[in-house]
Amino acid sequence: MLSDLHNHSIFSDGINTCEELIEQAISLGLQRIGLVDHVWRKSEWVLDFIDSTNRLKEKYEGVIQIVTGLEAKALTCAGEVDLNDKWRDKVDYILGAIHRIPSGSNQFYSKSDKSLSKSKAYDDWLSTIQGLLKNDMVDIVAHPAAELIQYDISLDEETIKMLCHLGKISGKVFEVNVKYKVPVQAFLNQLIANEIPLSIGSDSHSTAQQKLFLNDIIAMHKTLTFCNLI
Ligand SMILES: [Zn+2]
Ligand SMILES: [Zn+2]
Repeated sequence: MLSDLHNHSIFSDGINTCEELIEQAISLGLQRIGLVDHVWRKSEWVLDFIDSTNRLKEKYEGVIQIVTGLEAKALTCAGEVDLNDKWRDKVDYILGAIHRIPSGSNQFYSKSDKSLSKSKAYDDWLSTIQGLLKNDMVDIVAHPAAELIQYDISLDEETIKMLCHLGKISGKVFEVNVKYKVPVQAFLNQLIANEIPLSIGSDSHSTAQQKLFLNDIIAMHKTLTFCNLI
């Protein structure tokens, strides 16, 4: 099913409404769209988001399949996410993301920090992603390891194998994110070899980006035809 499971609306930092994203997805020929927005534990819009996307699911029934989720960032190196668990069962999935690498509880590395120790940042990243993979609140690991690119850190084969093993036993889905072009090929190869479920997303924040990434979404579906795609 031609799907893009990662689109942001005006409920968080996107610039189009959910309905505009849906209409664009229909006109682009997608069969399924995932509406997700960046969430914080204190976000006040989440119930509105759930109500309005439920209405849209009814309105577009038979035209396009709509699924909904929330993207929650890791707050600690233990992989805790910025999410209120009362929302957990009201959406179809939770994307767990590392946006900034936690350096402690609610503290994060900043790339501009001149004293940044790459190896310490990497160790904390590794602990965070392992925590995310064990976190029951998370269904899909968003843009896996994209956050390492800005630190110019690449993953070695052993670490990739370890993360795939952990993903497999915890039943997590890994996102193939066409915007950030992650996971990198060596990582993707191992995910495929381990038959780990994969989702495909554009991380679009507008209808213009949906259009921009459409060819990449289609190409990735073709590449992953024989894989365990959700
Ligand atoms: Zn993200
Ligand atoms: Zn996102």
